[in-house]
Amino acid sequence: MENRLYKLTRPEVEEYLKENDVVLLPVGSTEQHGKHMAIDTDAYTAQEISLMVAEKTGVLVAPTVSYGYSPHHMNFKGSVTLTFQTLVNVLKEVCASLIHHGFNKIVVMNAHGGNTNPIKQALKEIQDETGKRVYSVMVYPMPDGFGAEGTSVIEQEGGGHACELETSVGLYLGHRVLMDRAEKWTPEHTSIDPKYRRKVSAAYMYDENTSIGSTGDPTLATREKGKILVESVVKDLAEFIEDLKTL
Ligand SMILES: [Zn+2]
Repeated sequence: MENRLYKLTRPEVEEYLKENDVVLLPVGSTEQHGKHMAIDTDAYTAQEISLMVAEKTGVLVAPTVSYGYSPHHMNFKGSVTLTFQTLVNVLKEVCASLIHHGFNKIVVMNAHGGNTNPIKQALKEIQDETGKRVYSVMVYPMPDGFGAEGTSVIEQEGGGHACELETSVGLYLGHRVLMDRAEKWTPEHTSIDPKYRRKVSAAYMYDENTSIGSTGDPTLATREKGKILVESVVKDLAEFIEDLKTL
């Protein structure tokens, strides 16, 4: 079955909507991913994981929102950001269009931590304005999220951006990864002691934290770890989609 909404004809969409009202909306970013990963990493991952989940569950995938909220990456070349409110509006308008046609169960498949707050805002405004509940999930496996089981293969300390986990996922998904350029990160934050991480909030540019543009230790990444991570998160996400169908 063709799972990409944008490759269907209008009558095929009509047929789908008679049986099903779930659609996945991949949301990524266009931002630097260190010296070894491509700028479209998050957009690519959001789309590929969504297609794998769709394949398992028979639902449709809408076109990927490839630009995200990445102002903190703008000191690195190649990064492109929407403003907070623009991303909120893009999400609201895309969801409103899908809801208009009867896609009553939209799942935002997010691949970029920086998008979390704009997505939350959009979900709240959609709920207030239309009464429709839109869901959002993170497509990268997380120790406290979907694919938690798979994260046991991770050996690095810290991480979070173009790190061992993200690089392993990229290797498995066949993305452009230059392993010979991968570098281990040493925390460089000058303005606040790392022991206050997760306790104190402040706005930082990403290069204040890492001059190489990545964190964690991507040199530990392998395709095999990526396979375990991806299969684990796809399995968990597919389970969620099956549950959502019955709501
Ligand atoms: Zn990323």
